Amino acid sequence: MSTVHLPRSASEALLADGTTVSIRPLGPQDHRAVLALHTDGMSEESRRMRFFGVSRNAPAQAADRLCGERPGVLAIGAWAGEELVGEADCELLEDPPETAELALAVADRWHHRGAATLLLEHLVHAARSHGVRFFEADVLFGNRAVLQVFADLGLPVERRFQQGEVRLRVPLDETDERYRTAVDERGRRADVASLAALLRPASVAVVGASRREGSVGRTVLGKVRRGGFTGALWAVNPHTGEIDGVPAYPSVAALPAVPDLAVIAVPAAVVPGVAEECGAAGVRALVVLTAGLGAEEARRLMAACRRHSMRLVGPNSLGLAQADPAVRLDAEFGGAFPRTGTAGVAVQSGGVGIALLQRLAWLGIGVSSFVSLGDKYDVSGNDLLQWWESDGRTDLALLHLESFGNPRAFARTARRVTRTIPVLTVDAGRSAAGRRGAASHTAAAATPTVTREALFRQAGITAVHSIDELVQTAALLHTQPLIAPRGAVAVVSNAGGIGILAADACAEAGLVLPELPQELAGLLPAGASVRNPVDTTASIGPVELTYFLRALEREPAIDAILVCLVPTALSTTRDGDPAHALLEGPARRRVPTAAVLLEQQVPVRLRDCAFGGELPVYSDAVAAARALGHARERARWLAEPPSAPADAPDCDRRTARSLVDGYLTAHPEGGWLDPLSTADLLTAYGLPLTTSVWARDEEAAVATAAGLRRLAHAGEVALKAYWPGQVHKSAAGAVRTGLATDDDVRAAYRDFTRRFGAELAGAVVQPMAAPGIELLAGVVQDRVFGPLVVLGLGGTAADVLADRVARLAPLSERDLTTMPAELRSAPLLAGVGGTPPVDLAAVRSVLARLSRLADDVPELVEADLNPVIVHPDGAVCVDARVRLEPRPSFDPYLRRLRRPAAAEGK
Ligand code: ADP
Ligand code: MG
Repeated sequence: MSTVHLPRSASEALLADGTTVSIRPLGPQDHRAVLALHTDGMSEESRRMRFFGVSRNAPAQAADRLCGERPGVLAIGAWAGEELVGEADCELLEDPPETAELALAVADRWHHRGAATLLLEHLVHAARSHGVRFFEADVLFGNRAVLQVFADLGLPVERRFQQGEVRLRVPLDETDERYRTAVDERGRRADVASLAALLRPASVAVVGASRREGSVGRTVLGKVRRGGFTGALWAVNPHTGEIDGVPAYPSVAALPAVPDLAVIAVPAAVVPGVAEECGAAGVRALVVLTAGLGAEEARRLMAACRRHSMRLVGPNSLGLAQADPAVRLDAEFGGAFPRTGTAGVAVQSGGVGIALLQRLAWLGIGVSSFVSLGDKYDVSGNDLLQWWESDGRTDLALLHLESFGNPRAFARTARRVTRTIPVLTVDAGRSAAGRRGAASHTAAAATPTVTREALFRQAGITAVHSIDELVQTAALLHTQPLIAPRGAVAVVSNAGGIGILAADACAEAGLVLPELPQELAGLLPAGASVRNPVDTTASIGPVELTYFLRALEREPAIDAILVCLVPTALSTTRDGDPAHALLEGPARRRVPTAAVLLEQQVPVRLRDCAFGGELPVYSDAVAAARALGHARERARWLAEPPSAPADAPDCDRRTARSLVDGYLTAHPEGGWLDPLSTADLLTAYGLPLTTSVWARDEEAAVATAAGLRRLAHAGEVALKAYWPGQVHKSAAGAVRTGLATDDDVRAAYRDFTRRFGAELAGAVVQPMAAPGIELLAGVVQDRVFGPLVVLGLGGTAADVLADRVARLAPLSERDLTTMPAELRSAPLLAGVGGTPPVDLAAVRSVLARLSRLADDVPELVEADLNPVIVHPDGAVCVDARVRLEPRPSFDPYLRRLRRPAAAEGK
């Protein structure tokens, strides 16, 4: 039995009540703690459940087994500060291990806080990465607590009853969606519980509030006080007893009670010490406003937060605000107290935050909570999404993110949250220059645009290009009913030319403009046109317009209305308001309506309607159309039921694993696989590689070719020279196709020898595939985002036309259909001019298998199948390249808190 290696480093995670615990493998130094857990930590009854009896030696034996370097034992412990809360262990029963025998114990005083489940999740992860596929455990019949833990885990548990015991068997299938969903739900609850101290604190201390007016600490203190915070407020300042009417104390320890939240505005060098002091006192959350922490300061700050179970916003944060009247906390130095409302706002950059709050204030959109994430050491966009999803107030999420800590976990959360509330984000770093800025701004690796776009679209996030576009889109989504996914819009204008421009803008935003029934013309002045765009003529008056719009609203062919008005003497009512007619609409509109008033000076306003509700009024038709387009994208997303993960049957994981491990043992730095190993790896996952036979010299090539001709299209073969490290074969003259005779093959091989000389290692012989459409399919692993699956037009045209679509793995069943459909070449695949359609099922199978392979083998950093030649009946890949690199196995969905790069400094 091989020795088991676990990652030595700890990871932190949240218990159900929001407490942070640290999880790490047990070692000899933990012997005393493990013994204490099984003796002092557990009652006689708990011990009986754990050890099936009351043997006095059992605790000592357990400590020996768990802490010794016992081969085949995986043992992890969860720690709260110095205290061992619980342990979970398993013993691998076979070599190679398929099944492991599981046991766990939690100290009595830590029961009912989700420690056992959390430990189990981490043990599942560790066991899986050792190839374990089943846990088995014996549990006493009366041990309800442990039986419940298994029942709630989310994995399908088999139970067998035998003489007072239950024998459990749990398959650890990694793609089990039910398990992932159960983990998500536990993660959401724990996260929200831990965030309560930040976002609904009962008491707040501002540390570093000076007497000096205009200092950050003093400003925030003043804002909290004047904002009408409903809880207790104190200042911490060693030099004075009172600041701005707020009582001040010399230290956190000296405060009359322990604050839930501490807002820290002290110099960078002092931040770690203050954080430690807060933690020791029992503070539950920190907002660090200070910027410019060095690596060592960052590390110590994080260590204090984790050790003392404090959530952290910042550093370099502008602060946060909670508008709920029961709390009314305005602890930020950005702008005006946001009006109480229903929009959740989280920004990475403080400046963007100020601009965004300002515009929302102008618009009159109220805020539920606002968080300036700053350098995002701990609390991130992912946390806020879960908070808003659960706070019962927020119905619109506005995010500005420059970097992603764990994008795959974020995507999973967002995919769920966007089902209930719209999530809008400004897509920052679209250009190379912008990414450079983002990388230096947040010290995070820049992410290519395609990858971010894939993330947003797969998660149902509405991504916009500017703060203005964000606000303009929010104005529509916030006030108007959901548009039908069809997206049929009626454009109405009192100036024909303006209507045409608006119609163009709508079409460009992906909306459709259906023909309208001719009867509607009867409601308009003579000379008007009800072809869509509707030209009412400039002679229409407000009353006629109101009447017409009401009729239009009832028209079933219409899903949205866009009215563009140019001020004319006739269109304006006595009060001089051209929008008057539009505001007469019904209180509950059937279809979303937006207006464009060309003389309006601000880009967007929300106007109160006569019978209730609000109407978004834009100064520009392009902005209005774009907002409608985003609304329609969201409607489509909602109309699609969540799709199942793509199915890829009969993938031989074991073969792939041993191939990859074998290669990386021989090449620890990684590199490109040779053609035959490439074929073996891809074939293990059912990818349709053509037959490739290796020939080391001319004679072997001729003989092999003779054998392969029978399989080949038109009896011809392809010959490809190979030498280690080659890149593009055709460009180097290393590919010969359509070789029909022995002489052809011989001549081609001789030519290779002449060209490549001693470098030539041999050649690959393949049967020629029948002509078809050449596609490329591939995978690239992003360090942070994980694998991205790409499909495009392949062959020699690939680079010039750049007709590609990309999605993050794991792909869903729907991705398999939408990816080929989104190519510009899609009509080609469907068959044009009498050519039959290609076998799309074969294309879908290639995508599903690549996605599964990329997910199972994180070491596969690049795979390029180009071309995959698709026919009416099947697909075959004649050229594939695979690059491997050593990568630790990483489960993005394992519950653990962030490890910010900035705080990893040693
Ligand atoms: P590279 O991409 O390195 O230049 P390929 O092996 O993809 O080399 O070959 C280049 C082109 O030759 C392919 O895009 C394809 O059009 C054609 N080709 C190569 N092998 C075959 C084959 N076995 N059957 C049919 N066509 C082939
Ligand atoms: Mg190729």
